[in-house]
Amino acid sequence: MMDLVIRNGLSDTTGETIEVGIKNGLIEAVSSTPLPPGAREIDAEGGMISPAFFEAHFHLENAYLWDGLINQSGTLLEAIEIYAEVKHDLTTADIVQRAGRVIQAAVANGTLWLRSHVDIDHIAKLTILNGVAAAREQYRDLIDIQLVAFPQLGMARNPEAVDMMWQALEKGCDLVGGMPHGEKNMADAARHIELAFEMAEKFDVDIDMHIDETDDPYWHSLELLAEKTIESGWQGRVTAGHCCSMSAWDDAMAARIIEKVKQADIHVVTNAPINLMLEGRNHHHPKPRGIARVVELLQAGVNVVCGQDDVQNMFYPYGQMDPLEVAMITAHAAHMGAPEEIQAAFDMPRYHAARLWPLEKYGVKVGAEANLVVLDAKSPVEALRRRPVRRYVLRKGIIVVESQTQTTWHQGAALWK
Ligand SMILES: [Zn+2]
Repeated sequence: MMDLVIRNGLSDTTGETIEVGIKNGLIEAVSSTPLPPGAREIDAEGGMISPAFFEAHFHLENAYLWDGLINQSGTLLEAIEIYAEVKHDLTTADIVQRAGRVIQAAVANGTLWLRSHVDIDHIAKLTILNGVAAAREQYRDLIDIQLVAFPQLGMARNPEAVDMMWQALEKGCDLVGGMPHGEKNMADAARHIELAFEMAEKFDVDIDMHIDETDDPYWHSLELLAEKTIESGWQGRVTAGHCCSMSAWDDAMAARIIEKVKQADIHVVTNAPINLMLEGRNHHHPKPRGIARVVELLQAGVNVVCGQDDVQNMFYPYGQMDPLEVAMITAHAAHMGAPEEIQAAFDMPRYHAARLWPLEKYGVKVGAEANLVVLDAKSPVEALRRRPVRRYVLRKGIIVVESQTQTTWHQGAALWK
């Protein structure tokens, strides 16, 4: 007998009616005809059964740092300055508490994998890593978290950060991060990327960098990253987050670099919500759009994923840790309204992110782990339009969240009685 049977659901890929049978945490049956009774059964009520979501680019330690920390200019530069002041005071207990709140919000919205960039520099030293690692440990039965060692204050201009980065990797960071556009110039950005690859090769880990998070077309460290990826044989193992400056490049330059990104099999994470908020501030019209060229990247065959980056802090005052909200904002920012574009936006925090993670057995299919979301939606466009309640979130076959919304009419009901 199955441990759990989900009845009356819709396939997330074909839209057909399906039932899903789960045993020992794995999907054992996906059927268009009724399955035998299970030890427990739940009713999808005609909603979609989707594989669970990813948050591919986030910062756990500064979630909900909003009170009294208003970013007056609204720029990334001021946000980083405000944050540098705050970093001194972050304690492990505080980080675990706020990270816990944001992890719970993520899981309730169906997110079961989260990649977090952890500040490693001469101010933070390793205290932030200790806090985030403690939060990861506390919630390990609820969500899988990857930690990226992130030298936000530079490496070429901050040699102390280089030592800290090596230590962070020894302490168990899963990936090497970076922020080459935070250096003085492109030559130092190249050095930054060199250092990151030395670390990645030594520890045999993947790379995920903040790349060209600026509306200044001078910066094109994405091109250096692509060339270095190919030279090092790290194809498929490198992610480039943000990639904003490409919105300010001319078309010829963008085409040249996108082709290299494709050759390097780099995954691009667009953080459209925060990028729209922070970029373009110092320009008069016409303003650069400030986000990655999502549709051009997709058309070139590049894997594009979306990420929340920040929730309710000096970088971004909004956000509720909902991958469908991030996908919907991305769809607006990147002009994605045709059916195949809507499908791509919906797949960004799902199948596209699974390639980046990478997670091979992902999807509603026999043999995959039963990490599922039952959505009150019948199609991708409906999922993005309404960002509906996640009726059930299952991790390894266990129901971890069950949600309902109910609207009760009072006064208005008299109008149509
Ligand atoms: Zn980030």
